[in-house]
Amino acid sequence: MFKIYNTLNRKIEDFVPLEDGKVKFYSCGPTVYNYVHIGNLRAYIFVDLLKRYLKYRGFNVTHVMNITDVDDKTIRDSQQAGQSLQEFTEFYHQAFLEDLRALNITPPDVEAKATDHIVEMVVLIRVLMEKGFAYESNGSIYFRISSFPGYGKLANLEAQDLKQNSDGRLDVKDEYDKEHIHDFVLWKSWDEGDGKVFWETEIGKGRPGWHIECSAMSMKYLGESLDLHAGGVDLLFPHHTNEIAQSEAATGKPFVKYWAHNAHLMVEGKKMSKSLNNFFTLRDLTAQGMNPLLIKLELMKAHYRQEANFSVAGVEEAKRTVEKFLNLLIDLDAVATEKAGGENVEQLIAATREKFVAAMDDDLNVALGLAVMIEFVNEANKLTKSLSREAAEQIKKFIWEIDAVLGFIQPLYAAYQEKVKAVASDAEVTKMLQDRVRLRSEKNFAAADALRDQLLIKGIVVNDTADGWSVRLRNVV
Ligand SMILES: [Zn+2]
Repeated sequence: MFKIYNTLNRKIEDFVPLEDGKVKFYSCGPTVYNYVHIGNLRAYIFVDLLKRYLKYRGFNVTHVMNITDVDDKTIRDSQQAGQSLQEFTEFYHQAFLEDLRALNITPPDVEAKATDHIVEMVVLIRVLMEKGFAYESNGSIYFRISSFPGYGKLANLEAQDLKQNSDGRLDVKDEYDKEHIHDFVLWKSWDEGDGKVFWETEIGKGRPGWHIECSAMSMKYLGESLDLHAGGVDLLFPHHTNEIAQSEAATGKPFVKYWAHNAHLMVEGKKMSKSLNNFFTLRDLTAQGMNPLLIKLELMKAHYRQEANFSVAGVEEAKRTVEKFLNLLIDLDAVATEKAGGENVEQLIAATREKFVAAMDDDLNVALGLAVMIEFVNEANKLTKSLSREAAEQIKKFIWEIDAVLGFIQPLYAAYQEKVKAVASDAEVTKMLQDRVRLRSEKNFAAADALRDQLLIKGIVVNDTADGWSVRLRNVV
């Protein structure tokens, strides 16, 4: 049975969704005012791994993610850029989607933009006001945390721990309008700084606060109680804490059964910080020639609740791991003849699957899951010389089965095949290969070997086979 650490109860629990076989899953998406950095990407990769594994375990997952396209930062930066809020945020929204594609992260079933759901937020805020959980002050509306017992339970906070404005999203001027310093804004009345960004609604002219969007949109698409809510640990307080308060105050029902949070990311052993200028984006790293899927493996390989470290050396190590998988797949493709061998393959696959599932069932222990798969590749390599075509196909099929969870092997393999195809259709290379065959048939082996060496310099390895030749590339990644 799949077990997961539930932040709400601070322990690893059996994962039993509210409705048998179905998982209502919400994760917090980006604020689209800039490119996301690799610390954010770690969270999206974790969410995707979790989703992929739940699907692998047979759950029917519905995943909803928000896009925050209105807040202080998007308004401020769109004004500085001289663009409309919509034009400005859509640019970074598209850039975010490009990053997800490059990392082979599966898109959510529903992607919800905050600005498309103002009506739902207004309805929710009105309910909170009617029930006495929210109040209006100078045109803005605030959540009254003293009215909600258990506020801060998720973050394990006592009232005295609650820090003012810990996420920096509130204007200092708001503080004077609130009954209590910890109350947070649900609806922000328009002021001149907002420029053209406002909505005229029954609760006034203004715009929503950040936290209310996730409550309104998650409940719209998934219902009042969700199974699973995930995100980076930096969202635990105040964002997720406030989501719980808003949602449960409005519905009187538990909002989320399981909360899952991934730990922080370090870069080259150091905390990410403005002064170190190490908030790398995917674009920064790919511009240095790094393959996004190797970056993905580097960001995924540590247990999600452990602080991870991103390093150039780690990306190099990821490359060596990927090479092992790809070299095996390429060798398996080269198994052409019918041989009797491979009786052990089924056993090896069954034993590996069992170990992989045991690792991942244990709170998504991907570090162990990866180790299990690398061990499998090593074992399978020993068998490739004596495999039947059928056994080779079984091994490949199993790798694809597991890669439905890991999500980095298939696109790299496809990219390799594309490169081989390009090489094979290159006129100069084709001529060299044909010349080499002719030279060999003329028993001019010295000249044939010289051609082989020239091809090797181009990164092309030629193997002679029973029915001609096969080529592979020296650099598989
Ligand atoms: Zn959220």
